Amino acid sequence: MDKIITRFPPSPTGSLHIGNIRTLLFNYLFTRKNGGEIVMRFEDTDRERSSKEHEQIALDALEALGLDFDRGPFRQSERTEKYINALNTLIENGNAYEAEESEGESGEKVIRFKNPNKKITFNDIIRGEITIDSTDFGDFVIARSKTNPLYHLTVVVDDLEMQVSHVIRGEDHITSTPRQILLIEALGGEIPHYAHLPLIIGSDKKKLGKRHGAVTYQEFEELGYIPAGIINYLALLGWNPGDDREFFTKDELIDIFSLERVNNSPAMFSYEKLDAINKYHIQKLSKEKYKEYVITFLEKEEKGKELMEHSAFDDIVDLIIRERIHKFSEVRTLLHEGEFNWLFATPKPEIDSLLYKDVPSETINKHLTHIISLIEQIADWTPDSIKEVIWKYASENNVGEVLAPMRMALTAQKRSPDPFTISFVLGKEETLSRLNHAQSLL
Ligand code: GLU
Repeated sequence: MDKIITRFPPSPTGSLHIGNIRTLLFNYLFTRKNGGEIVMRFEDTDRERSSKEHEQIALDALEALGLDFDRGPFRQSERTEKYINALNTLIENGNAYEAEESEGESGEKVIRFKNPNKKITFNDIIRGEITIDSTDFGDFVIARSKTNPLYHLTVVVDDLEMQVSHVIRGEDHITSTPRQILLIEALGGEIPHYAHLPLIIGSDKKKLGKRHGAVTYQEFEELGYIPAGIINYLALLGWNPGDDREFFTKDELIDIFSLERVNNSPAMFSYEKLDAINKYHIQKLSKEKYKEYVITFLEKEEKGKELMEHSAFDDIVDLIIRERIHKFSEVRTLLHEGEFNWLFATPKPEIDSLLYKDVPSETINKHLTHIISLIEQIADWTPDSIKEVIWKYASENNVGEVLAPMRMALTAQKRSPDPFTISFVLGKEETLSRLNHAQSLL
């Protein structure tokens, strides 16, 4: 077994869970690093719960994430003959037999594997030596009937035929491994290497599930996480580079990944960390790509369309949105929380709101008057030049006392982007008009 061959074997019975994607990613990184080959197969022996639609969802997710494979996709439902042949071999050799479904009852017949009842030891790449006594699982069922094979048998037949060298899968399959080893031995095949990845848990230490938040690829996509962010974050779920680096591209991960650096303790999923990592990757997108994403998240909303049609939209994206969000759905949150209201309507600040602490209104008036004259003199209208001029004046006086009334005059909102960016986006004329109006109130 010289060549490294791994497999992507999702069961197309639902949306692709983030845990499955982490497993696929670790298979991918390991295989690409070592110049091996990945075989894709759908484990759809559960005909009732499997569907083509779920297959497509999985394939789309893999494509979006750039997790490509080399052979397949195969479907177990189209390979029944191979399983039947193996089943017949096992029966002929006395390793399997037909029996009642449950002991002492007459009814459906199933095929059971004749368990040699022995200790099975395998060397897990992540967990070291594991020994399990096969007596614990008795003569387990490997087929519903002579034509209806079950999971352990189909996996073993496929792994052997596809010459899989490394089985890398979730820890929940650890008890499958001794059963599958017994089957491989009975079929005269070579035992692959095994690596069982740690469980992914939520902040309450329970297995990550719906109640913790988003868990399927689609849900993450709808929240506006991008492939580069998802890949980077998932790589850190159970693996680390051995130092404190956290930000990686897929290619960098391929370069440094190793199964030996995967931990065997559960990996805690942190949505905050995912946000931080996603933010890093969305900041690296080109202006065009970034804007495209923002548009996808805005265009389904009335107010969003209004924002997109604003003449300063490009600046709003580059200067305001880009600074603030971690994932693209937050664009809608900003919109709903009124972060952009100052753009759409002339603000009507209350006189009191223009004041700052117990500073007399004459002083605030003096500041606004001075800001107006400074702004009138700015020839080169950029956020930086505005900031430079106003900041100089503000820091010579009292920053809060100068900037808070300015922000209020421009937006009538307590929360908003900084007043320099706002001035820039509004344009010189509108900025002056708003400042003059506020000053006239005082
Ligand atoms: N179809 C199984 C699953 O999705 C794969 C198990 C395996 O890797 O052997 O859990």
